Amino acid sequence: MQLIPLVLVLLAGSAAAWWVLRSRARLSARVAEEAEARWRLEELQGRLLERTVELEDANEHLEREIEERRKMELALRESEERYALAARGANDGLWDWNLVAGEVYLSERWREMVGVVDRSLSLSPEEWFSRVHLSDLPQLKVDIAAQAAGSRSHFHSEHRLRHSEGFFIWVLCRGIVVRDDEGRALRIAGSMTDITARKDLEERLRREAQFDSLTTLPNRSYATDLLRRAIARAKRNREQQFGVLFLDCDRFKVVNDSLGHHAGDSLLRLVAGRLNGCVRPGDVVARLGGDEFVVILEGVKDEAEAITVAERIQHSLAQPFYLDGRELFMSVSVGIAMSQPGVERPEDYLRDADLAMYRAKLRGRARHEVFRADMRAGAVLQMSLENDLRHSMDRGELRVMYQPIWSLASGRIVGFEALVRWDHPTHGAMQPADFIPIAEETGLILPLGEWVLRQAAQRLAHWNTKVVADDPIWVSVNVAARQLTHPGLVEIVKNAIAETGIEASRLKLEITESMIMADAVAAVGALEQLKTLGIHLLMDDFGTGHASLSYLHRLPISTIKIDRYFVGRIDSNSECLEIVRTILSLSRSLSMDVVAEGVENGAQREVLQSLGCEYVQGYLLSPPLDADAAERLLLTNRAVESAASR
Ligand code: C2E
Ligand code: MG
Ligand code: MG
Repeated sequence: MQLIPLVLVLLAGSAAAWWVLRSRARLSARVAEEAEARWRLEELQGRLLERTVELEDANEHLEREIEERRKMELALRESEERYALAARGANDGLWDWNLVAGEVYLSERWREMVGVVDRSLSLSPEEWFSRVHLSDLPQLKVDIAAQAAGSRSHFHSEHRLRHSEGFFIWVLCRGIVVRDDEGRALRIAGSMTDITARKDLEERLRREAQFDSLTTLPNRSYATDLLRRAIARAKRNREQQFGVLFLDCDRFKVVNDSLGHHAGDSLLRLVAGRLNGCVRPGDVVARLGGDEFVVILEGVKDEAEAITVAERIQHSLAQPFYLDGRELFMSVSVGIAMSQPGVERPEDYLRDADLAMYRAKLRGRARHEVFRADMRAGAVLQMSLENDLRHSMDRGELRVMYQPIWSLASGRIVGFEALVRWDHPTHGAMQPADFIPIAEETGLILPLGEWVLRQAAQRLAHWNTKVVADDPIWVSVNVAARQLTHPGLVEIVKNAIAETGIEASRLKLEITESMIMADAVAAVGALEQLKTLGIHLLMDDFGTGHASLSYLHRLPISTIKIDRYFVGRIDSNSECLEIVRTILSLSRSLSMDVVAEGVENGAQREVLQSLGCEYVQGYLLSPPLDADAAERLLLTNRAVESAASR
């Protein structure tokens, strides 16, 4: 029995213990829970703090970044503004070509440059290209392609763009390519500068360096260059031969001296125009300076072809020029040098053609000569002759010969023509044809002509006072073109008359048609002045010129001398006979005396007599004689004639 309460007590005790234990266990579980919750909270708080710090950092970073970006943006804006300003200041246009989209941005200034005022007008790359000058387009495309392909770092192109008004402007386009990571070109952008003024200046300088400003023809230096190229072509290809024509205007100085340099310049321009009209495209006409021109004929087969061109030029220039209401005649002397293997310097061709031209001058001008190697030796001789001629007067090497002029009706000597001779110390007696052209070219004709005039006037004074005082004669003296236009001529003639005391009307000056042809107005002026001195003027070599018949009545001429070309053929050629007949009837109607020169045989004299020609001169009657022989002939003639008339 007692067990039951014990058991009960035990049970109760166990239950209490279990309860206590359970309560304890619960407590400790709660404590543990609470501890964990606290730990979690702490951890959470820690994490929160960490995050807050992190966020604060991030925030700070972000703010810094924002600030930085703001600064960058500002800097970019400033930079853009600066660039735009610089571009505007430089007056450059800007362009940005999106290669992917095929769009192009063009700044206002860009549009302004090409005259696109309508902003709504789209400008596609095609439209841009369509404005590029056709000759510049291929190169521009190459440049752009090279840039896009990456073979060039910077794009740089100078080309012409058509302005909306139709004219072209020169532009300089500079740009750079923007690429993606794989190096593909995405955009090309850059600036465009108007360089028209610079290009114009460059062109002007180039033209000035290469072209003659008066005629716009290539100048000497450019012609030399072109000739060098022709030589190189001929060297490569034997078929590609060429010819060089060297042209010099005959008596151009007469035009300059009488009409002034302004007229001279105008005439040179007209000559240049005609020369251009005589050659084929590809040939070159250049002005070497003064009145000298050169023509380079490319692809001529032979000498004959070059001669044909020379003749064409001479024919074209022989047509009258009209200048300020005047009719002017101009001829050229032409030297021809053909391409030769082994001759490779342009200067050699110019010199050879020049030598040939000089020969053409000496042979009477208005003609052409082809260069031959012996001309070089001739040129050396020419130079030494020039030098000798300078001293000939002081050294007493010049002589005046006199050729009598007879009256066919009376058989009396009525006058003499004074003809100069030069006794050269080594070359012997020289004829005027060998040295008068040199004297004319060098200007020595002025002192030489004055000397001949003085000699002739003195001789005439002696004859008319001492020999034939009862029936005085006249003396005629040849005057060169250069003398006629020289302002001192009147004074020289006046002095010669005063010094010798001759009667002015007993002195005749012989001029030629070609002197008048160069410029009739100026020549008439000079002749009128001479006429006031009381002397007579004689038209020499009449019939050889071609345009002077119309001038004849306007000139103060008293005597015509028919050229010996017609006189020499008068007995064999009916045309010449007719010409002489016409000249005789013309001179009668103009009340002029006529002398037929170059009468060599009796038949000619008879024809002239039958035509009523009054005076004759020629070998039939007498060659030119020295002064003493002329005087003896004069005395004999008078004695015979007086005897005959008794
Ligand atoms: P020109 O004035 O026509 O002179 C006539 C030329 O014909 C002279 O030649 C004379 O000798 C030549 N002659 C005369 N009769 C005959 C003939 O029957 N048959 C042939 N075949 N010829 C004849 P020259 O003396 O040689 O003079 C040539 C030219 O030189 C002259 O032609 C003249 O233009 C020029 N000249 C001569 N002396 C002077 C001068 O002092 N001053 C100037 N400026 N020129 C002169
Ligand atoms: Mg004469
Ligand atoms: Mg003559």
